Amino acid sequence: MEIIKNELMKNHTSFKIGGPADEFCEAAKTEEIIELIDYAKKKNIPYTVIGNGSNLLVSDKGIRGLVIKIVSNSISLKKETIIKVDSGAMLSTLSMFALKNSLKGLEFASGIPGTLGGAVFMNAGAYGSEMKNVVKNVTYLENGEVKVIEKEDLEFGYRKSFFTNKDVIILSAEIELEKGNYEEIKAYMDDLRKRRTEKQPLLMPSAGSTFKRPEGFFAGKLIEDAGLKGYKVGDAAVSEKHSGFVVNLGNATAKDVRRLIEDIQKTVKEKFDVELETEVKMIGEF
Ligand SMILES: Cc1cc2nc3c(=O)[nH]c(=O)nc-3n(C[C@H](O)[C@H](O)[C@H](O)COP(=O)(O)OP(=O)(O)OC[C@H]3O[C@@H](n4cnc5c(N)ncnc54)[C@H](O)[C@@H]3O)c2cc1C
Repeated sequence: MEIIKNELMKNHTSFKIGGPADEFCEAAKTEEIIELIDYAKKKNIPYTVIGNGSNLLVSDKGIRGLVIKIVSNSISLKKETIIKVDSGAMLSTLSMFALKNSLKGLEFASGIPGTLGGAVFMNAGAYGSEMKNVVKNVTYLENGEVKVIEKEDLEFGYRKSFFTNKDVIILSAEIELEKGNYEEIKAYMDDLRKRRTEKQPLLMPSAGSTFKRPEGFFAGKLIEDAGLKGYKVGDAAVSEKHSGFVVNLGNATAKDVRRLIEDIQKTVKEKFDVELETEVKMIGEF
């Protein structure tokens, strides 16, 4: 494994924003993850785990200590309807694997640009389904010990799970699906891809939906009704295509995005008395 010093996190986030991590390393196997954590503990430096960086706003000052990017990506069929998958595997690859095996239930995840680990951590969801509906169990690392947790104990909620706010690393999971029809699964995936491409600014760097859906409202609609479509701070802007997305027009800084988010929150609160909570995770030295 190669530990890189001062690696720019903008190279590892879908926002294309983020200053240097003091140290950065990719881990492709469980043993490598354990080794890297040992390394950080011995050096007495903090560590941060990331997947594909598609839900992150990393500060311009970067991240102190070691960043471990999980890239383990083995996917295999354990039983007829159960897939065993490493936490660094991309959801798109996993969904294609399910399709090839005519297994249904993961179509919703095919267009989410994250890893299995990030998706389990966040309980990622779309188009009426979420990870909660497909995860059978999760293998994770806590205090140097490998543990398994079953779905009933995973405390999945809206964009949260048992793992939220815990110092643990998701290593792999078993995904339980249903036997389906290849053509039907493919048609549904194609339909969702089309809907995403039509509605979302997929060609611009972003971290997906900036805010969680407030009870009884849609964040994008509130932002648009507040007159903020296209509103900018520096190179950070409310997407013209979907007001729920903040996009990077080129050289946006984390500071720009933070200010834009705060302006949106303030305006929406004033106009509609609704508090918008960020879905995007802000990490590093703000
Ligand atoms: C264009 C676009 C569209 C999107 N659409 C959706 C959508 O429809 N639905 C949706 O829910 N999200 C969506 N997202 C957001 C994002 O893709 C998901 O939240 C995804 O699950 C994040 O996965 P990741 O691997 O990128 O995690 P990261 O962004 O790298 O990390 C997210 C969090 O998970 C933690 N984490 C990551 N891996 C691990 C691990 N192995 N162990 C422990 N903790 C870990 C990180 O520490 C961090 O706190 C979208 C993003 C973009 C850019």
